[in-house]
Amino acid sequence: MACASAAAGGCGSGCYKDKDDEEEQQQQKQKNEKEVLGGRGRGGVGGGRGVGHGHSLCIKCKVDEALSLSSTITNTSSSSSSSNLCLGCFRSSLFAKFKQSISSHDLISPTDNVLVAFSGGPSSRVALQFVHELQDKAQRNSEASRDNSYPVFGVGVAFIDESNISAIPSHELDKAFQDLRLIVSSLAPPQKELHVMPIGNICSSDPKEGRNRVKELLDTVTDITGKEDLLQHFRMLCLQKIAFDNGYNKLVLGSSTSTIACHIISATVKGQGYSLPADIQYVDARWEIPVVLPLRDCVAQELKMLCRLDGLKTLELLDGPRSGINGLVSSFIELLQEENPSRERTIVRTAEKLTPFHFNRLPEGMNDSNDHFPSRWRRRKRLNLKSDESMPSEFLCPICCSPLNKSDVESLTNKLGSCETSSEIFGLSCCPSCQFQILPKEVSSMMQFYSHLPQPMIARAKDCLNGDQTWLRERIEDCLLSDNEDGT
Ligand SMILES: [Zn+2]
Ligand SMILES: [Zn+2]
Repeated sequence: MACASAAAGGCGSGCYKDKDDEEEQQQQKQKNEKEVLGGRGRGGVGGGRGVGHGHSLCIKCKVDEALSLSSTITNTSSSSSSSNLCLGCFRSSLFAKFKQSISSHDLISPTDNVLVAFSGGPSSRVALQFVHELQDKAQRNSEASRDNSYPVFGVGVAFIDESNISAIPSHELDKAFQDLRLIVSSLAPPQKELHVMPIGNICSSDPKEGRNRVKELLDTVTDITGKEDLLQHFRMLCLQKIAFDNGYNKLVLGSSTSTIACHIISATVKGQGYSLPADIQYVDARWEIPVVLPLRDCVAQELKMLCRLDGLKTLELLDGPRSGINGLVSSFIELLQEENPSRERTIVRTAEKLTPFHFNRLPEGMNDSNDHFPSRWRRRKRLNLKSDESMPSEFLCPICCSPLNKSDVESLTNKLGSCETSSEIFGLSCCPSCQFQILPKEVSSMMQFYSHLPQPMIARAKDCLNGDQTWLRERIEDCLLSDNEDGT
C-alpha cells in the first residue's frame, strides 16, 4: 500500500510529455526507485534487480523492473502496452493520456467547478483519482506562483444511489456507502464535496414516491435492454440535476475506450447510427451542464489494472454486469479484445470518422478565461465540425437525447397533426430506437408511462416541439404549405 500511495503522489506530477514537468519526472523516478527497493523489490539492490529473475527492465525509464507477467496475464491485451513498463511509467502513461485529452480539448479550465460522476467501478475511480491529482498539482502551482493568482478548479463527486431499486442486502450497502465516503475523504486536500442522490429523486422529491415511480416506469418497459437503457438515461438526468443544483459547470464521466467501443457496436445494433457520433466525442454539450470524457483514450483493462496495482478502492458491488444487447455486446468486445489487444481502439477510431455534431464542442466563451494561463492549458485541438446552417439546433429525443435525423423529424411533423393526447405527442417525438425499445406499445400503458416520467424528459419534449425550436416550427409550416400546394 505504501507503494501505491507514493506512486500516486509521484505521478500526480508525472506527465512525461510535459517539458515543464521533466524535473518532477526525474524526482518521481527516484521516488519510484526507492519504492521498488523498499516494497516491490525482489532481487536486491541496483543493477542486480530484475536481471537474474526472469524480469526485464521497463522500456521507458530503463531503471525499474517491468510489471511482471503474473499481473498482466489475466488479460493478454494489456500486456502489449503495459507489461513492458514499470508501475511508475505505466501509471504516468495513463495519466499522460488523461492530461493530453484535457489539454488538447480544453476539457477542464482553471476557473471550472467540475463534478466527477463516480459509479463505483474502476474507470470512474481512476477519473476521480486523476482529476484530484490534477487539482492538487494546480493548487501547488498556484501556491508556488509569485502572486498566487492562478485560480484552481473545484471538484465535487456525484454518486447515484440506486439502492432502493436494487436487490443488494442493506448491510452490504451500508458497507459500500462507508467505503464511498472514505474514498472521497481520502482525496483531500482540497476537500471534495460528495453528493449522493437517490435515483428516485429525479421523479419526485418525496423519497418513497420517487422510488415507486422509477420502479413502475422500469416495470412498464418489457424489453430488458430498454429497461437498462432507460435507467442509464435516468442516471444522466440525476447527474445533470446534481451538477446544476450545486453550481458545477462541467460533468466528468469515466467513459473509457472500452465503454465507447461497446456503445458504438450496441448503438449500431439498436439502429442509432445517425446519433452515434454525438456520444463518442471528448465533449458533449447538448446537456445543460456539458459532459467531458478525459479517459476516452484509456482502455478499461488498463484502468482496472491501475486500480489493482495502485490499491485504488472500487465498489464492485454497485457496478453490476450488463444485460440484454448491452451485455451481449460487452462480452463480444471482450472476446475481440482477447484475440487482438487493439480491437477496442480500432472500433473507436473507425467510428471517429463520422462527423460530430455542433454540440460536440464547448459553448463559445466557456473557456475564454484560459487566455491568461500557462500555455499548456491552452494547447487545444480544434474539432472539425460540420456546421449545417439550415439546422441551427438539433431536435433531440426527449428520452435519450439523441439527435433525430431529418427524415424522422419530417415524419414526426407529418404525424403531429393527428395527435390527440400529450402522451401520443411525446411518443412520436422520441427517436425510433426509444420508440422500439423503451416505449410501451399499448395506449393505456403508454399513458401511465408518460404520467410517471421525470419532469426534465417531459420538458425536453415540450421545448423541442414548441419552445425555442423555430427551426422545427418553420419545418411544420413548410410541411403544411406543401400539403396545401399538393392539394390544390
Ligand atoms: Zn519505468
Ligand atoms: Zn431516444
